Amino acid sequence: MHNVMVNGAAIPALGLGTWTLKDEVCSELVAHALSLGYRHLDTASTYDNESAVGEGLRLSGVPREDVFVTTKVWYTEIASGDLERSAEQSLKRLGLDKVDLLLIHWPHPEIPLADSIKALNAVRNSGIAGHIGVSNFPSEMLGKAIRLSDAPLVANQVEYHPFLAQTKVHAACRAAGMAMIAYAPLGRGGALLDEAAIADAAKRHSKSPVQIVLRWHVQQEGVVAIPRAERKEWLAENIDVFDFELSGEEMAAITRLRSHNLRFYVNEGYHAPQWDTID
Ligand code: NAP
Repeated sequence: MHNVMVNGAAIPALGLGTWTLKDEVCSELVAHALSLGYRHLDTASTYDNESAVGEGLRLSGVPREDVFVTTKVWYTEIASGDLERSAEQSLKRLGLDKVDLLLIHWPHPEIPLADSIKALNAVRNSGIAGHIGVSNFPSEMLGKAIRLSDAPLVANQVEYHPFLAQTKVHAACRAAGMAMIAYAPLGRGGALLDEAAIADAAKRHSKSPVQIVLRWHVQQEGVVAIPRAERKEWLAENIDVFDFELSGEEMAAITRLRSHNLRFYVNEGYHAPQWDTID
């Protein structure tokens, strides 16, 4: 697996999304994933599984410094003071003295961005977050966050899969030397996997449709994918995407599926920002 090198951070191109995994199931899956070669774990204070993720990391026996651990601060906690407290509580639950990446989970319409970014920088300066970034930031808001931050932001985690374009966010990330971390990279495992562009490539490469989608992600500059899977055999399948390459034509055919313009997460939520328009 390659690392995506961004603003001083080396982020493994494929990580394990842990949302909905809980307790022993979560710890065991995390430990199993690490035994298969995963080196990037994605959690959040709101997933209610940070303790289990930390436990899985310890169970695995993989040295802490070999694993890239991300957690996130829930949007109601991103005011100055709250954000620092949230980060400290996350570390306690994880049983770690540092996370590799701390993200603002969602923007908050009523909390000034400058305050949140200042607090995020304070956490980084205190040494308990190796790197900082954001999540669910449309391109213009991302530009503001970048300008407000003393330390470079290293990632924006957004929904991204072949049914949803993120052209503007991706371009903004690349221009700032940041990674775009794709959440729901499999389009939640639904109809996307039956699309001809994906199924045909799967036949040609003797891979599964899921592997084709994940390969499509990691073959793009600066893109990291964090699929979630509850079955052990799927964990193995999902990381086995680094021994083949999609052609330019195959990449383009999958990219064209974005005309579906399907967003699975928060279209009109009270905490959803104004998403980028699709060009
Ligand atoms: P996803 O990764 O696109 O899809 C997960 C679905 O695909 C699950 O139903 C899973 O089934 C299935 N799947 C996984 N591997 C498979 C395989 N090899 N073959 C067939 N099906 C497979 O969607 P997601 O879970 O919504 O997103 C992934 C991660 O992104 C989350 O866990 C979380 O860490 C992160 N996330 C972040 C945000 C944010 O606001 N920053 C929002 C949403 C998600 P099973 O459940 O049966 O394993």
